[in-house]
Amino acid sequence: MTTSAAAPTAFWLAGSPATGADSFDVTSSWDGATVGRVSVPTEEQVESAVAAAAGAQHAFAATPAHVRAAALDHVARRLAERAEEIARLITAENGKPVKWSRGEVGRAVSVFRWAAEEARRFNSGEAQRLDTDPGGVGRLALTRRFPRGPVLGIAPFNFPLNLVAHKVAPAIAAGAPIILKPAPATPLSALVLGEILAETSGLPAGSWSVLPVPNDRMPALVQDPRLPVISFTGSDTVGHQIADSVPRKHVTLELGGNAAAVVLADWSSEQDLEWAAARIATFANYQGGQSCISVQRVIADASVYDALVEKVVEKVRGQVTGDPADDATDVGPLVSEAAAERVGQWVEDAVAKGAKVLTGGVREGASYAPTVLAELPADAILASAEAFGPVLSLHRVNGADEAFAAVNDSRFGLQAGVFTHDLQLAFRAHRELEVGGVIIGDAPSYRADQMPYGGVKDSGSGREGVRYAMDDYTYERVLVLTGL
Ligand code: NAD
Repeated sequence: MTTSAAAPTAFWLAGSPATGADSFDVTSSWDGATVGRVSVPTEEQVESAVAAAAGAQHAFAATPAHVRAAALDHVARRLAERAEEIARLITAENGKPVKWSRGEVGRAVSVFRWAAEEARRFNSGEAQRLDTDPGGVGRLALTRRFPRGPVLGIAPFNFPLNLVAHKVAPAIAAGAPIILKPAPATPLSALVLGEILAETSGLPAGSWSVLPVPNDRMPALVQDPRLPVISFTGSDTVGHQIADSVPRKHVTLELGGNAAAVVLADWSSEQDLEWAAARIATFANYQGGQSCISVQRVIADASVYDALVEKVVEKVRGQVTGDPADDATDVGPLVSEAAAERVGQWVEDAVAKGAKVLTGGVREGASYAPTVLAELPADAILASAEAFGPVLSLHRVNGADEAFAAVNDSRFGLQAGVFTHDLQLAFRAHRELEVGGVIIGDAPSYRADQMPYGGVKDSGSGREGVRYAMDDYTYERVLVLTGL
């Protein structure tokens, strides 16, 4: 943290730009360049943002749907207009190859569009007859949903815009004030979203803030009783710490994973294996493996294992690594040198315990070469932890029973991909896999932003996807009419 005379980027306090006494630099993990300097809110400023959010809740809930929908449509339009600039900013602060950053902006546009539609549909409610019992004769029940109160949204570094969008857009659609806390490594995209929100008309003063609060000051915000809803996306350690510290709050946890791609015996033609290998190689290493649903484990039937492995290794070797700002780059650096060092140590641990490196296994600064491991022993760290790096492990099994058991042999459960043409096996995977989503015919990394998305086990609880997040931010309140 520094105190600097140079003007840092303002944060957003109750819808207006503001600066505090301190600031911090945001640097590129690719070349160490300073990407920006961000102002940090003082304790008094955080207090006034929370007070404003609490003060805005009734006005926001009463804002007409067409006003909230128009604001959300405006945000979608402005994000689309500024797409290239924002994609470049995501790449600069996060190290993500620019082609993936462009995809991320496109997804955020879609999240705001969906939210505009959901805002129009929201709270139509339902009527329930009560004369099914003698005591209910002459009565009618109506249901509507109301915000639980202001939301504290806490976002990770790996999708600095889209995972922020997944918190802000449903809050606006539901009429719930939100205080957004972006990740310290990547606050700039969220602050640009703040600029766009500030251009909209119709959102009550105080209904939103974007506050880059340092981690050591977060416990006070987490505990604040005026923020009854916490929507957290990040690591399982921090997420569970937060949830355990506020047992009476409504906490949504979108946490980590070690997603598996299963390739079953029937997925065996040349074309099948080409597709599976291409999807596995791409989604093991896109964003340097820093996605909660990156492919970390390949679980392949023995009958297709060798042919698949040959193709996966060939495709991983063909990936273009390097400068994330270059259009041709497939795999850029990790978010920091420390992250790459940690991945390196885990690969060394695996090798010391008997794993074979088929390709990769080399670090240079913050970059870690896309790596494929075979014969990963069960006691290696990578066999159970979330790699969050470009490291894939290959596992040979016999039949669907063993394959599904291997997927479930994990403390995580976010998504799984199953390559099969067999409808019975597809339904069986859906029934038996302990995950939040099963993707048939593709990698586990497929996500459409309107789908319910979230995990089981240590991968979290609650669901994002605009409508599902709106459910989390609101609760159903019934109105009973008597004497009809
Ligand atoms: P992280 O847990 O380190 O940080 C997440 C956020 O929590 C950041 O904004 C951070 O500043 C904040 N934070 C840190 N300490 C805090 C505290 N004590 N109180 C309150 N907030 C605190 O995670 P990260 O490294 O930014 O992100 C990577 C993790 O996120 C991975 O585990 C990944 O799988 C997970 N993730 C999950 C999903 C999902 O939807 N399930 C999506 C993306 C990322």
